[in-house]
Amino acid sequence: MIEIKDLHKSYKMGSNSLHVLKGIDFSVKEGELVAIMGSSGSGKSTLLNILGMLDEADTGSYFLDNVPIKGLNETKAAQYRNKFLGFVFQSFNLINYKTAIENVALPLYYQRKKRKERTDKAIEYLGKVGLAEWATHLPSELSGGQKQRVAIARALAADPKVLLADEPTGALDSKTSYEVMDIIQNINDEGKTILVVTHEPDIADMCKRIVHLKDGVIVEDKKVEQVRASQYV
Ligand code: ADP
Ligand code: MG
Repeated sequence: MIEIKDLHKSYKMGSNSLHVLKGIDFSVKEGELVAIMGSSGSGKSTLLNILGMLDEADTGSYFLDNVPIKGLNETKAAQYRNKFLGFVFQSFNLINYKTAIENVALPLYYQRKKRKERTDKAIEYLGKVGLAEWATHLPSELSGGQKQRVAIARALAADPKVLLADEPTGALDSKTSYEVMDIIQNINDEGKTILVVTHEPDIADMCKRIVHLKDGVIVEDKKVEQVRASQYV
């Protein structure tokens, strides 16, 4: 589903340049649930933004569902982004003056789906995250965990190939974090490919595979059972 080779990314700041990703090789198969772990500043968001086509690498190759992603023009890139990818962020990024169901239906509106289909899908996905009864509430009437569940429903509404979540539990207490990760696990059980960026080991442990990023390189890439086993050696 995802295949990247020797990816490099630097940020230019005046005459200086910060080399953030220093040769990343990484692939993800359909149906995986992968945590991208690492301390703050290790380059996790930079990597996720490149995978999400929100940013471009300087060098290296990237194939998403066998489509070469580098050098696409903005129109094509936006098309692929809408078709292939769903995003969830730490800060939810819901539209405050729209209800839960309107937020979830929004990606379908951009895809020019008919009203009936938008409503049906939005209700279906709100149901999947356990919020059917909250459909007509505004974000300000929802708890943090509920807001993130709406954001997950919205990210899934257009049925993307891959769900990308950047610190989805970063703004939540630990009980709510586990609830949100439960939902992410359920969605993965239904077959969705999911990448979760986190700096919290407990959250990474709820994924099936943990990729550890340090100073711009992958220092460990293991199935979660192997990580657990190695903790007892
Ligand atoms: P993480 O998500 O792991 O905390 P980031 O990918 O956000 O790490 O950032 C990696 C490094 O790149 C940090 O040192 C950060 O300050 C820097 N950085 C991130 N985005 C930018 C940007 N747009 N311009 C300049 N530097 C940036
Ligand atoms: Mg980050």
